[in-house]
Amino acid sequence: MLLEPTPSPFDLRWRMFGIPVRVHPTFWLFGAILGWNYVQLGFTYVLLWVACMFVSILVHELGHVFMGRACGHEGYIVLYSFGGLAIGNWHHTQRWQRIAISFAGPAAGFALLGLVFLFQRQFLPQIDPDFNMPMLRRAVMMLIFMNLFWNLLNLLPVFPLDGGQIMREICTGIAPRSGLRLSLGLSFVIAGLIAVYSGIVRAKPELPYPPLDPTFNIILFALLAFESLQLMMAVERERRHWDWNDDR
Ligand SMILES: [Zn+2]
Repeated sequence: MLLEPTPSPFDLRWRMFGIPVRVHPTFWLFGAILGWNYVQLGFTYVLLWVACMFVSILVHELGHVFMGRACGHEGYIVLYSFGGLAIGNWHHTQRWQRIAISFAGPAAGFALLGLVFLFQRQFLPQIDPDFNMPMLRRAVMMLIFMNLFWNLLNLLPVFPLDGGQIMREICTGIAPRSGLRLSLGLSFVIAGLIAVYSGIVRAKPELPYPPLDPTFNIILFALLAFESLQLMMAVERERRHWDWNDDR
């Protein structure tokens, strides 16, 4: 899931603010699956969902790339099935800069949330006083939902989410030798607990839960937990290998 998808003939490519952007076809497909419930209101609402998702994820990734640029390194954006990637040579930057780059994605999302909120309060009542524009009102709701919950979700200390990247920087800053394993271990435990709790919520819907799909979160966080565990074991193997070589 960390890997950039290979270019396809159906990729959409352009530049904005000097930043190359590529959209893989799986982005549209996955977006439509995620918003398929809206088909009850009409297929245009599924398209509206995908459009809102596109704007929200693009703004989030632009936040990362702008902060990366402020730290002296350009980057580019890829949108694909599981969301977006902002890619740059940011491992050359200082630790606090890498934390700032990771945080800038959710921060850009929260800034967009603020703007949409302002629009809803200040301008929407004047533009549509008689509630004649259901699509516009639905788009506002979708944007508020996506930019609030997806950016909060992204701040969870789970790999490879932004919060997981921030946790890795903090852990390796405190403990250079074991920090990476520690952060992957924590990521495994936290993702595992979220998957288990989402499973319990499915059986007992009266339990507190954010307005997100628990079934989707079971799959997502179980995958992320598994990935963290695999990475942790790979790091452990690497360490044993090097310790053995040191002993010689
Ligand atoms: Zn991000």
